Amino acid sequence: MPGDALSQDPAELRRRIDTTKAHPARVYDVFLGGKDHYPADRAAAAAGLAANPRGYLDVRHNRDFLRRAVTTLATRDGIRQFLDIGTGLPTAENVHQIAQRINPDSRVVYVDNDPVVLAHARALLTSGPEGRTDYIDADLRNPAHILEQATKTLDFDQPIALCLVAILHFVEDSEAYDIVRELVAALPSGSRLVLSHLTEDLNPENIRAVQRTYTERGFTFVLRSRAEVERFLTDNDLEVADPGVVPVHRWRPDHAALVPDQPEASYLASLDDIEK
Ligand code: SAH
Repeated sequence: MPGDALSQDPAELRRRIDTTKAHPARVYDVFLGGKDHYPADRAAAAAGLAANPRGYLDVRHNRDFLRRAVTTLATRDGIRQFLDIGTGLPTAENVHQIAQRINPDSRVVYVDNDPVVLAHARALLTSGPEGRTDYIDADLRNPAHILEQATKTLDFDQPIALCLVAILHFVEDSEAYDIVRELVAALPSGSRLVLSHLTEDLNPENIRAVQRTYTERGFTFVLRSRAEVERFLTDNDLEVADPGVVPVHRWRPDHAALVPDQPEASYLASLDDIEK
């Protein structure tokens, strides 16, 4: 069921897409091997890769963490509602495809602020007949608006998995902790938070060089330590699920033989139970 965002005037949408500047969703798409990017995004990705040659792997590990987290929640906990903020460009395995394969009646609301993601949002709305998907064109920094729009599709009396995967490092401290508090407070008992975050704890020199590269291009890029990531959880009295806050590839690996263990991986992950 198409959301209001898709009715945006195509000329207005084109005006919002600035191809001269790199955008996080498109740079991420370069790393994932997608095709929805422009020369400025490819130049940013190349500079990022020069700073951290493992960049491709880190991003793929992060995407694979998202897949395993959704799979775990859908199978182990029977979670049937997902609010995925910072969706990124559609790739082969989007949250609704994973969730609906397990529970066909799953409902997924996607949120992103990048007009290029909006332009591709129809690909995110291909819900199976028993479930529902929607797309909200919104900024994480406006949680009240996101929550209000999400109620059109999600039932806030039933558990919801809030996915903040590789997005919080684009938000300054002055806002990030309050945003997460507001979103978590709106979720009913039995809900979950899935979170991954770029960190400099494990691979500091390279990741700081990546940060310099992206801040030069106008991105906000806040690297947080494990303790700072854990604050998103402790602030909200969340219980951290096993195995706790770990590098993404170590979070419940399901084909360990194919994914070598890399101590210097640069994302941290966590998955938390919200019990009130
Ligand atoms: N969650 C996906 C994509 C991560 S890339 C994954 O882990 O695979 C980060 C995404 O967050 C991009 O699509 C970018 O456009 C989006 N994003 C960054 N800042 C945002 C903000 N303030 N509000 C909404 N989306 C944002």
